[in-house]
Amino acid sequence: MSNNLPNLVFIISGPSGVGKSTLIHRVMSQDPRLAFSISHTTRPPRPGEKDGRDYYFVTRDTFEKLISEDAFLEWAEVYGEYYGTSKREIDRLSSLGKDVILDIDVQGARQVMERLDRNRWTSIFILPPDLKALEQRLIARGKDPKDRIARRLKIAEQEIAQAERYDYRIVNDVLERATRDLKNIIERERTKHFHIDR
Ligand code: ADP
Ligand code: 5GP
Repeated sequence: MSNNLPNLVFIISGPSGVGKSTLIHRVMSQDPRLAFSISHTTRPPRPGEKDGRDYYFVTRDTFEKLISEDAFLEWAEVYGEYYGTSKREIDRLSSLGKDVILDIDVQGARQVMERLDRNRWTSIFILPPDLKALEQRLIARGKDPKDRIARRLKIAEQEIAQAERYDYRIVNDVLERATRDLKNIIERERTKHFHIDR
């Protein structure tokens, strides 16, 4: 008899600048069983971002070729750029025995919820305390040009309206508390899905 934990997929969404990457980094640094799914994108890298660590940065031609080859578990056009999760990335992380974190938008999240077995995924939406705080965070991050920030804020309200579809919602006001909430959700879901092979 051996204890067996199935690979779980944690879908994390929320408007740009709400703190998803920050929360994910904090939780992952304390939990070696978690792995981040590196997405493909056509967006240009921000200062400090690295190909193959933050994203696989590709051209529109390459991305469209991958779509035609059915290489994506999900993909979407977000803020005028393509973003997608490759099937190969999920297989790679699952074969390492990791639970997988997806930082994806609401359109992509819906596709994953439809395509993966219900027992495999948990969805979590990160909310800002309010829209003003969101704008301040996007400006404070200082890594997007002004027009990109404006576009992201315009879409934020539509994204927030989707929060009800998620299993859990976390308000990222105080970072410490929000990190703890995310950690607790992950632990709770592991306990729920724990089973014993005979
Ligand atoms: P996202 O990945 O959702 O686009 P980031 O993690 O890049 O967002 O965070 C955007 C900015 O907000 C960063 O400068 C980050 O340091 C800051 N931030 C994250 N969480 C908080 C918080 N709870 N309070 C204040 N600032 C925060
Ligand atoms: P950013 O450009 O700020 O890194 O990400 C912009 C938006 O794209 C965020 O909402 C993020 O969750 C989303 N995103 C990142 N990777 C993917 C992906 O692989 N698929 C989808 N559908 N959205 C993604």
